[in-house]
Amino acid sequence: MAVVKKENKVERVKRERDGLDSLESIIAYAREGFQSISEDDLTVRLRWYGLYTQRPETDGYFMLRVKVPNGTLSSLQLETLGRLSVRYAKSTGDVTTRQGIQFHNIRIEDVPSIFAELNNVGLSTTGACGDITRNVTGCPLAGIDGAELINAEPIVEKIHNHFLGNHEFSNLPRKFKITVSGCSLYCTGHEINDIGLVALRRPEGVVFDLWVGGGLGAKERFGERLGVHISPEQVVEVAHHICGIFRDNGNRDSRALARLKFLMADWGAERFRDELERRLGYQLTRGEAPKVPFSTNRAHIGIHPQNEPGLVYIGASTTGGLLSGEQMIEIAKIAREQGGSRIRLTPTQNVILLDVPEQSAEIAARRLEEIKLPVRPSTFRTGTIACTGNQFCKLALTETKDRAADLIEHLETSLRGFDSPFRISVTGCPNSCAHYQICDIGFVGDFINTPEGKVEAFRVYLGGHLGDGYAFGKKLKRKILAGEIKLYVERLAREFLEKRRSEAETFQDYLARHTIEELETLGAENSTAAAINGGEAGLI
Ligand code: SF4
Repeated sequence: MAVVKKENKVERVKRERDGLDSLESIIAYAREGFQSISEDDLTVRLRWYGLYTQRPETDGYFMLRVKVPNGTLSSLQLETLGRLSVRYAKSTGDVTTRQGIQFHNIRIEDVPSIFAELNNVGLSTTGACGDITRNVTGCPLAGIDGAELINAEPIVEKIHNHFLGNHEFSNLPRKFKITVSGCSLYCTGHEINDIGLVALRRPEGVVFDLWVGGGLGAKERFGERLGVHISPEQVVEVAHHICGIFRDNGNRDSRALARLKFLMADWGAERFRDELERRLGYQLTRGEAPKVPFSTNRAHIGIHPQNEPGLVYIGASTTGGLLSGEQMIEIAKIAREQGGSRIRLTPTQNVILLDVPEQSAEIAARRLEEIKLPVRPSTFRTGTIACTGNQFCKLALTETKDRAADLIEHLETSLRGFDSPFRISVTGCPNSCAHYQICDIGFVGDFINTPEGKVEAFRVYLGGHLGDGYAFGKKLKRKILAGEIKLYVERLAREFLEKRRSEAETFQDYLARHTIEELETLGAENSTAAAINGGEAGLI
């Protein structure tokens, strides 16, 4: 007798009514209040409009995520986001690792007004969360970098517009992420997206090398090259069919196995390419892999010339991605008064002002510094990213934003002048919104049982990176008490300074030449050793 599998809850809810068809309900809920929201809409469908319930759920507040394709905002758009934050979100805001903006403390009653204001300036939350194509990311320097191969922003926009509100792809097995990289640094993470497009120059012109099936989360997997090159004109059609393959073949029985990476693991690149070509109706051009450099610093911080003489871009660092409403309004003002009114958000949670005349650069930089967005920050501030954490995220096991800020301040004080690139992730749970597997030091929220009870701790991953030789960080056996991570990182950095082979050796090189057994011992030789190695609070 055939075994009938029980449909999981999310699949049932999506089948009964598509997530995109919940807009009218949202308007009604706004009139009637939080208590009127149906369970299925609250826990599933509202995500298709960027709304997630936040911690604590009893408060009736939501997180709201806004899509920002390629991270590009006009000053009017950023000012609008800032005003919305101040008025409706208690001035909260995060820059996400997908170049979007995330608010907290949103009441359902205010959502129609927020949507109307976003719509007025060409922004949307549609598809920002849920089992649908998420914000399409792109190079933060698209169109202004003298060394870029192609300005890929128009391609990002085409993909965004193709999938936005598209009912053909609004019930995918799971979320779906696309990135397009047109510059020579390849800083948008093509290795960890469902579709990663990597520009390279061929005799016939610039084409994209196609990567499919990457993703982080609790089970990380790098995407695979399909061994084909596609032209800029083919991009939307190819993305359309890859998304279709995922929609029709992805695992709908288990949420944990639903991402495209699991289908790719099952099929392999060759079968996937065959199916893609069958759907396209033609064979794709075979081609070699591009040379992607090892990248230690993709943050684009500081003042740098643009391709157009006389103009510069200015990258400023947030602290762990936090951006208040007031800061957004002020950045918009600076961009309008000192630059060309264009802003970009980066996948490393930083902010870039574009098109600033050279003579205005120092004034703009000073004004950014005045609102705590340093243009010449420490390597620790530049390189530290953090997810939402338990202040608002229901899945978080630990606090992250305050810990990241505390960690940065500690390192800036104790290691003044340290200037080697140093990338740290503070992530609240294994879901990896802050990419712990691809940073030099990745902290993942957890707990440790102590005689005093359960206390917050972090698991540690060391040595992850993208680019040449891409590798996930190695997972250590031990956990570290949350209050001890700053001392642990300080020890790691000091040992690096003492033991590196030469001034030229980077922290990334240093980690890469240690075995996992050696990595376990780094940073564990002082007062932190008790927390790291002792009893219940030690090796797990
Ligand atoms: Fe929440 Fe986990 Fe994502 Fe952090 S990584 S925002 S804790 S789901």
